[in-house]
Amino acid sequence: MNQSFFPPRRILMGPGPSDVSARVLGALGRPTIGHLDPLFVALMDEVKGLLQYAFQTENALTLPISAPGSAGMEACFVNLVSPGDTVIVCRNGVFGGRMQENVERCGGTAILVEDDWGQPVSVDKVAAAFKAHPEASLLALVHAETSTGVRSDAEALCALAREHGALSIVDTVTSLGGIELKVDAWGADAVYSGTQKCLSCIPGLSPVTFSPRAVERIQARSERVQSWFLDMQLVMGYWGGSSKRAYHHTAPINLLYALHEALLMLREEGLEAAHARHRRHHDALVAGLAALGLEMAVAAEYRLPQLNAVRIPEGVDDAALRKTLLEDFNLEIGAGLGALAGKTWRIGLMGHACTAANVTLCLTALATTLARQGLRLDAGAALEAADAVLAAA
Ligand SMILES: *Cc1c(COP(=O)(O)O)cnc(C)c1O
Repeated sequence: MNQSFFPPRRILMGPGPSDVSARVLGALGRPTIGHLDPLFVALMDEVKGLLQYAFQTENALTLPISAPGSAGMEACFVNLVSPGDTVIVCRNGVFGGRMQENVERCGGTAILVEDDWGQPVSVDKVAAAFKAHPEASLLALVHAETSTGVRSDAEALCALAREHGALSIVDTVTSLGGIELKVDAWGADAVYSGTQKCLSCIPGLSPVTFSPRAVERIQARSERVQSWFLDMQLVMGYWGGSSKRAYHHTAPINLLYALHEALLMLREEGLEAAHARHRRHHDALVAGLAALGLEMAVAAEYRLPQLNAVRIPEGVDDAALRKTLLEDFNLEIGAGLGALAGKTWRIGLMGHACTAANVTLCLTALATTLARQGLRLDAGAALEAADAVLAAA
């Protein structure tokens, strides 16, 4: 007979989802009301305002798409790419590749600007691509590449797009709430994110924001958007002005309670304080890892504090180690993806999971588990090194 599912309480220090707080889980369990109930419509407006704060934007078209981050990505591409368009796509990891796929499925031509995994997008290469392809109408880039733990200079890249009369599509799934992101000040045009990374909410929603220039481009389309569900002209009617709301689909009501709560928590903490918290715990983790003799895979200046790529030492059984972490410590860390599989771990310090307790647990569990595999390390020194960073802050 089937039984109710009671998952264990894990500590989620991988590439997402991250730990969800009791406060957000509590919001998720509140009574479901109708999606056209005036109280729910008012909540939708609040969510929009809180998202504008998180994205640092005044864009009117700011809302959560009712599906995960990949749907936000797709919403940006299907609305802004028309058949025959040329799009410069920066690829330095998994998600740039997914962007390329989106461009091609929209009938566009993707001009790839490639950088090695573990390196940021080269602004010079993008400038050269615009020179070679003056017809390019869009630039697509990933601000925080979760597959490699690298931050690219989204501000400079968005400025470059503007200089060439192109719009920018920016993936901020992992950056939102974790590192500085200023949609309006940077002039980013179509920006999407996710809820399960640094916002520490349940997966399943994708906050997006479109600049007035992007909205103009969408409204000027001559062809209908290929996706009915993600057609922003239709979605706008549902999320648009509160006076007149047209049924489009049924919003995932309780998920929006959860997102509202997570965004409230972000605003209570303050964006800058949240960024500083991610930075501080990252510094502590890196100091502890160094004391264990472990090396970071990404140069310090491009590292994401919320996603730490760590080189797996020679001779370590990666799969066995992660299995022990999960089974004996209830701790999930991420494996390497693609070219980095078996070569790196990805240790997340995202949102609610970004705490001193988790840094300590992670260092202790890694030291213990590596010792079981025969490595000689000094766990005490690692904890001291991490604590020295946290105590100094
Ligand atoms: C997680 C992630 C996505 C995809 O989000 P889903 O919610 O898994 O669809 C896209 N881009 C980046 C950079 C991510 O980290």
